[in-house]
Amino acid sequence: MFYSKEEFKEELTKRLAQDDGKKEPRIAYAVLGAMVKEMVEEEWIRTKERYEKSEAKQLYYFSIEFLIGRLLGQNLHSMGIFTIVREGLEELGYSLEDFEEMEPEPGLGNGGLGRLAACFLDSLAALQLPGHGCGIRYKGGLFTQQIENGFQMEIPTDWIKETENWEVRREDLAVEIPFYGRLHPHLTDIEWVKAVPYDMPIIGASGGTVNTLRLWQAEVSERPLPAHKDFEEYTVETAAISDRLYPNDSLVSGKILRLKQQYFMCSASLQIILKTLPSSVRQLPDQVAIQINDTHPAIAIPELMRLLLDEEGLDWDEAWNLTTRTISYTNHTILGEAMEKWDSHLLATLVPRVYEIIQEIDRRFKAQLQEQHCKEEVFKKMSIIDNGIVKMAVLAVVGSYKVNGVAQLHTDILKNREMKELYKQFPEKFHNKTNGITHRRWLIKANPELTNLIKESIGEEWIKKPILLNDLDKFVGNPSFQEALKTVKQTKKNQLIAHVEKAGDSLIDPHSIFDIHIKRFHGYKRQLMNILHIQSLYDRIKEDSTYRPYPRTFFFGGKAAPGYEFAKQVIKLINVVADKINKDPLVRKHIHIVFVENYNVSHGERMFPAADVSEQISTASKEASGTGNMKFMMNGAVTLGTLDGANVEIVEQVGKENAFIFGLHSQQIMQLEKHKTYRAQEVIAQNQELESLTARLFRGELSNGSENISFIHKQLVDLNDPYFVLKDFNSYAAMHEKVLGAYEDPQLWSRMSIKNIAESGVFSSDRTIQQYSDEVWHLEKILSTS
Ligand SMILES: *Cc1c(COP(=O)(O)O)cnc(C)c1O
Repeated sequence: MFYSKEEFKEELTKRLAQDDGKKEPRIAYAVLGAMVKEMVEEEWIRTKERYEKSEAKQLYYFSIEFLIGRLLGQNLHSMGIFTIVREGLEELGYSLEDFEEMEPEPGLGNGGLGRLAACFLDSLAALQLPGHGCGIRYKGGLFTQQIENGFQMEIPTDWIKETENWEVRREDLAVEIPFYGRLHPHLTDIEWVKAVPYDMPIIGASGGTVNTLRLWQAEVSERPLPAHKDFEEYTVETAAISDRLYPNDSLVSGKILRLKQQYFMCSASLQIILKTLPSSVRQLPDQVAIQINDTHPAIAIPELMRLLLDEEGLDWDEAWNLTTRTISYTNHTILGEAMEKWDSHLLATLVPRVYEIIQEIDRRFKAQLQEQHCKEEVFKKMSIIDNGIVKMAVLAVVGSYKVNGVAQLHTDILKNREMKELYKQFPEKFHNKTNGITHRRWLIKANPELTNLIKESIGEEWIKKPILLNDLDKFVGNPSFQEALKTVKQTKKNQLIAHVEKAGDSLIDPHSIFDIHIKRFHGYKRQLMNILHIQSLYDRIKEDSTYRPYPRTFFFGGKAAPGYEFAKQVIKLINVVADKINKDPLVRKHIHIVFVENYNVSHGERMFPAADVSEQISTASKEASGTGNMKFMMNGAVTLGTLDGANVEIVEQVGKENAFIFGLHSQQIMQLEKHKTYRAQEVIAQNQELESLTARLFRGELSNGSENISFIHKQLVDLNDPYFVLKDFNSYAAMHEKVLGAYEDPQLWSRMSIKNIAESGVFSSDRTIQQYSDEVWHLEKILSTS
C-alpha cells in the first residue's frame, strides 16, 4: 500500500506493467480503483472487528434512496490521499479530474431525501459512530434527463457495471423474503425472493472508521414456487424489485412493485440485523437503533413484529415493547399527496401475515383510544386503518419511540397542525432535527479554493469542528479577505462556465451575477415564479430604454417526475424563454438563462460554489427543510428566499440584513388555505404587469405559441394558484431589485457573503448526527486505535 506520492507512483506503475503496460486512462482508472479498494478493505475489516469486540450499539438507517454521488474523489479525500493521488497521477501523465468524470453517478435517489441519507452516512463515519445504511441496489437509478427541443426526455441509466470497485457481493449473507401466500393458519404457497446484499464502504474522514452501506439485490430463490405460479413470470417480477427507483405507480402493477420494494428492503435488513445480534433478542433496543427515513420503510414496524412473534417466539407485549424502543421515524413532508397510503387489499394479498399484524396494532391502538373517550374525528385521524386504507405515517408514529421533523418550522407545523392529534397523544415522542449537509463534500471537496482561503485565515480546526467557521466573523470587514474571496468566486464561476460551455453554451458573462435555482421541479418550489419574473425583466428592457440592469445569469437545473405534466411544462417554458432571451442581442447583455441538463450531485458540486444568489423561493410552509439552501450558504451565496423550511434558521443565523427575504409567511399561507379567501384572478386584475404577463402566457405567446401550457393554465386559473405564485410575485420582483442594489456595492456584498460562510457551520450534518446520536440513538464513538 502507499502513504506517499512516490510509493503511489511506484505501485501504480508496477500494476500497470503487469497489465501489459497499457497506458490508456480507462485502464489506469480501473487499476487505481482496485488499489484503493484494497486499502479500504483493510480498514473496513478492522472496523468490523472493533464493532464486534466492543459489542457497541449499531444504528441502521433505512432509506429507499441513497443519493451518494460519485465515489472516487470523495473516498480519496476521506482516506487523506487525495493530493498524493492527484499529483502522482499528474506526474505519470494522467488527470484525476478526468478519472472522476469517467465514473457514472449512482442515481439511487431523487433529491433532498436521498442526499440527506448520503450526508448522514458520511457524518456517521467521520464521527466514528457505528451507523450503517440499508437500501436497494437498483440496477438503474433515476432516469438521466436530456433536454430536446426544450422538453425533458427521460433516458434510463444503468450505473452498476462501472462501480465494482466500491462493492462487495455478500452471498453468505443472503436471506429469503416471503411474498404472497395464504394464511390457514400458517402461511403456505409463498413466493420466495432471495435478497443478496452488496456492501459499499463508507469511509470516515481520515480513514479510521469504515461503515457499511448495504444495498439489497433481488434474485430468484431456489425454493419451490407455488404450483399456480409461472416461472418465467416469477423471474421477471423478481428482477423488477431491484431494477428502478420509484417505478411508475399510476397502475396497480406499479403500486404492487413499490410495496414489494419497501417490504423486500425492510425484511432483508431486519433478518440480517437479528441474525447478527451479539446477544439475546430481548436486549434488542440496547444493541440496535433503526431510523426510518420517511414512511417508505415504515413497513419495518410490522415486519419486525412478525419476526419477533413468529421466528423468535416472543409474545405480543414483549415484541411490541422491543419494536417501539428500537425504531424511530423521520417525517419529510406535509404535502398531502406525498403522505403514503396503501390499499388494505393490496397489503393483505402481498404480505398477508404482515397485514394481519397491522390490523392487530390498529385494533389495540383503537381500543386504547376508546378507553380515553376520544372524539370521533380525532379517532378517525389517528386510525391506522381507515376505510380500507392504511396510513403509513400514523403507523410510523404509533410504532416508533421518536418522531422528528427536519427543520424547526416543519416540526412545529407537524405538532400544531398536520399531526396535532398524534402529538397530543404522544407528546414525548416529537422532536426536531434540522437537516444538515456534509461540509466535506460540499465545501472541502467541491470548493478547494475556498477551503484553502479559510485555512489560511483561521487554520484547520474547523474541518473537525465545522461550527468554528464562526471564526471567519472577524474577517467580515477585512478588505484583503474580501478581495481573496472575490477571486475564489470568480475562479469557481469560470470553472462552471467552462463546464457548461462544453455543452454548447458560449454566451455566459463571467462577471455577471450568478443567480441559481437548482432542485427538483415542483409546483411548490416555484420555478414558475422565477421564469415569469425573468420574462418581466425582458419586457422592461425592451420597453424602457433607461432600464439597463447589471448583468445577471439565471441558472436552472432539476428533473421533473415523469408523470408530472405541470412541472414538465415549466421546464419547456424556461427553455423557450431562454432561447428567446439568449438570442436577443440587446437583452442578453443584461440577462441570460442557462438550463443545466440532468442536475445531479456532480453538477451540484460545480454549481453551488459558483453562485452569488441562492434561489429558495418555495411557498412558505411547503418545503420541510431544504438542504440546497445550506450548500449555497456554505459556499458564500446569499439567500433570496421565503421564510420556509431551514431558510428560517439560516436567516436567524446570519441576520435579516444578510439575506433577501420576501413573500407571505407560513401562518398567512395557512390562513388563506384554511379560509379559502385567496382569489388568484383578483391579484391579476389588480396588477397591470401581471395581467399582461399572464394574458400573454395563457395565449401561448411566451412559449412562441407553439407550446401547450394547459397544465400551467389549469394550475394558475382552475386550481386558483395553489402555490401563491401570483400573490408573491410583486414582493419577489421587488426583492430582486434589492439584490441588484446590494451587488453593485462590492463591499456590502462581500460582507454578506462572508457572513453566510461564517454562520454555515451549524448546518453541517455532523451537528445533526451528533444530535440524533445524543437524543435518539445513544451511540458511542468507537475510536480506531491506529
Ligand atoms: C442537495 C440536493 C438536492 C436538494 O435540494 P433542495 O434545494 O433542498 O431541494 C437535490 N438534488 C441534489 C442533486 C442535491 O445535491
